[in-house]
Parts: sequence; structure tokens; C-alpha cells
Amino acid sequence: MCIFCKIVNNEIPSNKVLENDDFLAFHDLNPKAPAHILAIPKQHFDSFNDVTPEVMGKMTSFIQEIAKEVGIDKSGYRVITNIGENGGQEVKHLHWHVLGGTKLKWGHFSDSDTKGSF
Ligand code: AMP
Repeated sequence: MCIFCKIVNNEIPSNKVLENDDFLAFHDLNPKAPAHILAIPKQHFDSFNDVTPEVMGKMTSFIQEIAKEVGIDKSGYRVITNIGENGGQEVKHLHWHVLGGTKLKWGHFSDSDTKGSF
């Protein structure tokens, strides 16, 4: 069982922010901003590649609730999901990083030539 499934099953503790039947939000152990919350579906999906539109639809309002709950909805925030190796995903259970509480930096995502062929 993956580490986030263990958190869902209360086998590993977490600092919870919000929970409902389908989703859980908890503080990131290693925050990258003053507010850094992880939002996960309780159902296991390896990544965004596998999630269904139905779950994504519900996830939208859950993330909006998180931003309100921690008080960053008006000041602004960023929502990120890392996917796979190039995306920098370490935990293979779909999660959204909700970051805020300060002016976030933007840029320098890669050491490669950004004039790529995609
Ligand atoms: P990612 O690199 O997108 O897979 O992000 C994984 C995130 O999970 C990292 O920001 C970690 O700090 C965080 N993390 C890993 N284990 C835990 C845990 N037990 N509780 C809270 N956050 C965690």
C-alpha cells in the first residue's frame, strides 16, 4: 500500500486540514511555502494520467474549499500536480500541491534549452 493510502487509512498520522467522503487534505511534511497543503483523492490513482473526469470534477470544489479554509483564496495561491519522472513526482498517489501565504516565485523549471521541439 502506498504512503498516502496509509494516511487515508490512518495507518500513518497526518496534520489534516479538510476531509470528506472522497478526499483528504493535509499539511505537507516539508513545506515549500508558508501554506503548503496536499489534496488527495481517497481512491488510489497513480497520477493525473489515470484520474477520471468525475473525480476531477469533485476535486475542483475540494481544492477551492482548502484555499478558503486556510485563508489564501483572496490573496492567491498555486495548484500543482507533478506527473511522472520528468514532472518530479515522488509519491505515486495523485496529489495536488496547494501553495500560498506569500508571493510565489515563477520560472526556471528546467536546465534544458527551453526552445524545445514539442
Ligand atoms: P511530489 O514530489 O509531487 O510527489 O510530492 C510529494 C510531497 O509529499 C512532497 O512535497 C513531500 O514533502 C510530501 N510528503 C511525503 N510524505 C509525506 C507525509 N507522510 N506527510 C505529508 N507530506 C508528505
